[in-house]
Amino acid sequence: MHMAGSAMHYLEKELKELISRDERIFTFLESVFFDGLWYRDLQHPDQEWVNDRFWHELGFDRSDPSIEQRQSYVHPDDLPHESAALQAHIENPNKPFDIVVRYIHKDQSIVWFHCRGMTITSLNQSAPRMLVAFQNISPLKRAEQQLLIEKERYEVAINGASVGIWDWEDVTTDRVFWNKQFYNLLGYQEHEFKSDFSAFESRLHPDDKARTLDAVEKHLKDKEPYDIEYRLKTKSGEYRWFHAVGNALRDELGIPYRMAGSIEDVHEKQLAKQESLKLLSQLTESNKDLEQFAYAASHDLQEPLRIISSYIGLIKRKHVQALNEEAKEFFAIVEDGCGRMKSLILDLLSYSRIKRSGEIFEVVNVGRLIEKLVDGFKSENPGTNINVEIEGDTEIEAIKSYMDRLLSNLLSNAVKYQDPDRPLEIKISARSENQFVIISIKDNGIGIEREYFKRIFEVFQRLHTITEYPGTGIGLAICKRIVEIHEGSISVDSIFGQGSTFIVRIPQFVQREG
Ligand code: ADP
Repeated sequence: MHMAGSAMHYLEKELKELISRDERIFTFLESVFFDGLWYRDLQHPDQEWVNDRFWHELGFDRSDPSIEQRQSYVHPDDLPHESAALQAHIENPNKPFDIVVRYIHKDQSIVWFHCRGMTITSLNQSAPRMLVAFQNISPLKRAEQQLLIEKERYEVAINGASVGIWDWEDVTTDRVFWNKQFYNLLGYQEHEFKSDFSAFESRLHPDDKARTLDAVEKHLKDKEPYDIEYRLKTKSGEYRWFHAVGNALRDELGIPYRMAGSIEDVHEKQLAKQESLKLLSQLTESNKDLEQFAYAASHDLQEPLRIISSYIGLIKRKHVQALNEEAKEFFAIVEDGCGRMKSLILDLLSYSRIKRSGEIFEVVNVGRLIEKLVDGFKSENPGTNINVEIEGDTEIEAIKSYMDRLLSNLLSNAVKYQDPDRPLEIKISARSENQFVIISIKDNGIGIEREYFKRIFEVFQRLHTITEYPGTGIGLAICKRIVEIHEGSISVDSIFGQGSTFIVRIPQFVQREG
């Protein structure tokens, strides 16, 4: 581009004269409201005049010496397009010169110019001229590019989403947009069925239709959250469960005009949930049956056992002379069996009686309870080495008699299963941690093999014969039941031959039923 000197360029002078004479040019300039103006002698293309504003738009001052240094201010990629358009217009002036060209700003950024031009016959008639008006459309272009990026991002997100997306663009019409995944979730290809609300409605399971439409209505009208599970018919004709959420856009008066959201396939989850609910109710039923059975059996078994025992006693008293030694021995065995059976029945009965309902929860100080228990124990068994450590606030809400039972069962086991080869040592501790009270009862007894850690808490499970260690195998089952009633847990850790530690965790505050 050729720069004019400090004096007025002849072309500038000429244009100004032209403008004052030819009203058409003036109107043209006015109508396009240019950001730059460019006037060129078509017979001498190196001769052109450019207004100050044009240079400003590109970050230059007219007097900036660097203006002359650049070959071209047009972006190199746009040069061919610009000269072709210019040529086409010169050859055919009826075809408007109207293009968007990128220019390079002084700071190397891009300036988009919308260039519109016309050929003009100069004042001396013979010399053709070209007048081009520039409009800086960079802000517009940048906004457009940003919009494009955002649109792309939105499309990538929508199409890549694992959930189906629905957009009811105008809630007064039937039309709905569904993304590809929405169709795919129902087993269809994109756009395989009509995208309108009635198509959705017709796919709803008959049992879910009324409450789904009601939920939409309630969301639009009363702003109730739209968060629902329903079944939709898929292409194969099968119904699947979906979880849908959505939200309405509202105008300043609160009137909804658009509603959009997503659906997610929760079929397997829903089936699993239904299955576990079914199992839970079956389990509760069978637990109740079992409790009733245990109670009835232990209660009803007592009577015949009483008869057997008393008749054996009678035989022994009245007919002992008639019995030979062997018969006496047999009778002793039967008597012993009766005694054991009685203990088993009584234990089972007491186990089946441990219930949460009807019992009173009160504040129980576990630390104090332990100390009391140990004091009582020590006075009955002087010389027993029991160490007690209580730390922090060990108050809990509990059924007191059950807590007493739990602790005495564990303590008496620690004593019962002591190792005959070393003096007994018991350590009992209680401390609070994260709203739980943790009780630990540690002994240096015979220990338990790892494989039995779980089994010993089951009813009638014992690891020894009656002659080795007496018992019925119900004590720990009772302990387990008691901690479960208190929403706690019990476990054992042990090294066989060295000792065992029973650990009980009970929440300080029990959640009450109902
Ligand atoms: P019981 O003591 O009547 O057999 P429990 O239910 O109290 O019934 O215990 C079940 C089994 O767990 C016991 O037979 C014993 O083998 C084992 N056990 C319980 N406590 C201890 C302990 N402190 N040390 C070693 N073994 C134990």
